[in-house]
Amino acid sequence: MTVHVALVHHPVRNREGEEIATSVTNIDVHDLARSCRTYGVENFWIVTPITAQHAIIERILSHWSSGEGRRRVPSRWEALSRVRLAKSVAEVKELTQVDRTWATAADPRGNSVLSLDAAKTQLKEDRSTLLLFGTGHGLADDLVAGCEALLPPIQAGDYNHLSVRAATAIILDRLFARDRA
Ligand code: SAM
Repeated sequence: MTVHVALVHHPVRNREGEEIATSVTNIDVHDLARSCRTYGVENFWIVTPITAQHAIIERILSHWSSGEGRRRVPSRWEALSRVRLAKSVAEVKELTQVDRTWATAADPRGNSVLSLDAAKTQLKEDRSTLLLFGTGHGLADDLVAGCEALLPPIQAGDYNHLSVRAATAIILDRLFARDRA
């Protein structure tokens, strides 16, 4: 079982549902890299078509790979070393050759949802999976529609405004945490 995670900055939706590109935030890079390392994700892909953003991320990574950050917090590089950059989801698919891509969203938006049990069963197969997480107001509709499945939204009550950092950790835990029993 090989799993990749991508944090998608384009195409995502704005408040009006229009397709936009969002900026990469440092806290997302660190938090998702740590969650991905914790749950054994192969690589954490940061997807943005904006090359200036790639340069910013590369500067962040270099601070932690060889700079002062590595000396002070060596464990952080163990997580950040799995970060990869790509300009599009298509490029991630090309570079990883994953067998399938699953989307996530707070709202299924009319898409059929793969049950958690089915997802966990399928992840035990000898196939590779790319999990997409969005930014802004969520993954673009076409991107979700083009995925093999949509994972079930995290739903605990009538308030549903999780950050992508929290949502990623919860979903990875639901998929990969060792059975507590
Ligand atoms: N309204 C947006 C949506 O429907 O996805 C929430 C955007 S949230 C700021 C950014 C990302 O976090 C989403 O694209 C999704 O990947 C993840 N996310 C947020 N809430 C979630 C939930 N309740 N269930 C599953 N994923 C969620």
